[in-house]
Amino acid sequence: MNIKGIPYGRQNISEEDIDAVVETLKADFLTQGPKVTEFEEKFAEYVGSKYALAVSNATAGLHLSVLALGIQPGDRVITTPITFAASANCVRYGEGEVWFADIDPETYLLSYEKTKELIESKPKGFFKGIIPVDFAGLPVDLEKFKKLAEKHSLWLIEDACHAPGGYFIDSNEKKQHCGNGNYADIGVFSFHPVKHIACGEGGMLTTNSEELYKKLSLLRTHGITKEGMIENHGGWYYEMQDLGYNYRLTDIQSALGITQLEKNYKGVERRNEIAKEYKKAFQGLVKYQKNLENSYNAYHLFVIEVEDRLGLYNFLRENKIYAQVHYIPVHKLPYYNEIGYNSANLKNAEKYYSRCLSLPMYPTLTEDEQKYVIKKVFEFAQ
Ligand SMILES: *Cc1c(COP(=O)(O)O)cnc(C)c1O
Repeated sequence: MNIKGIPYGRQNISEEDIDAVVETLKADFLTQGPKVTEFEEKFAEYVGSKYALAVSNATAGLHLSVLALGIQPGDRVITTPITFAASANCVRYGEGEVWFADIDPETYLLSYEKTKELIESKPKGFFKGIIPVDFAGLPVDLEKFKKLAEKHSLWLIEDACHAPGGYFIDSNEKKQHCGNGNYADIGVFSFHPVKHIACGEGGMLTTNSEELYKKLSLLRTHGITKEGMIENHGGWYYEMQDLGYNYRLTDIQSALGITQLEKNYKGVERRNEIAKEYKKAFQGLVKYQKNLENSYNAYHLFVIEVEDRLGLYNFLRENKIYAQVHYIPVHKLPYYNEIGYNSANLKNAEKYYSRCLSLPMYPTLTEDEQKYVIKKVFEFAQ
């Protein structure tokens, strides 16, 4: 087999995607036009939320989410240390404090028990919110987190960047798609090319709250609106009612998002097939992320754990397999170290980090390529 190099993830752009972009380039609107609205409507339908709001990237979306839900300097928010830095950084944008609770050593998700312990170890009103992450595509049990959040009057943001298409079954036997807004206040998605849906850059916020949707919309466009104006000087007149940003997605990107979203139905199925093959090969031999019962993993990543991670990483690279580490724990990053985060209670996260490796996982990975990856992992392990 002629192996050109197998990355851990890659986008899938077809002629159809290219045509959609070219068509939009010839249309009247390059931004703030009908493609953005169409993408938002289709995305809301996909996840089953009432509202969806396209943004320039998920980091911008997380920033708007904490602003809309409310953050003051010193407010404390809990998230997982095993995530991309952006899940925590949004709290810092609002000058809030990030508190990390440990992960579950089997699912790698923010541990509900550890989060509960942390909250209950502090006086009432100590924390402001929780940001759980559907890590690697595995949905967090938001039903539990929602109860906890309600009990302690906390807001809840679901970082669903890894999980468009994932779902869990709740205690009423209902399918709850990631980002459907039934449990979290806001869901956040990313359209960076390593994620499921590629827009170049891009993101989506989902919610079931009209009030939040309105706030988020206003903040996405400078805080400028023509609705509910205090004065009106004529047809041209608008008001800036809040300090907002320009976090818009373009029509060009949205056109790509629409055709990409269409592919995600099959894409997630294919990701699950790939995961099944990996599990079949590794069962009892190599540890991998445990799936929660009653949940459907969207498989952004397929993570295994090995004793000699550096050795395997280098061996795979020599064989043109570009596995990756997700993630360096956020509290270990120099910025967070500097502002004084210690790691005393994050033992699972640190152990996980010393052993984790993400193997190639994307819909266009061929059967032969996957067999080659599995063969090389075994070659090293033996
Ligand atoms: C990728 C990612 C983000 C940030 O997404 P961008 O669109 O690149 O800003 C946030 N959280 C998680 C968990 C991610 O994987």
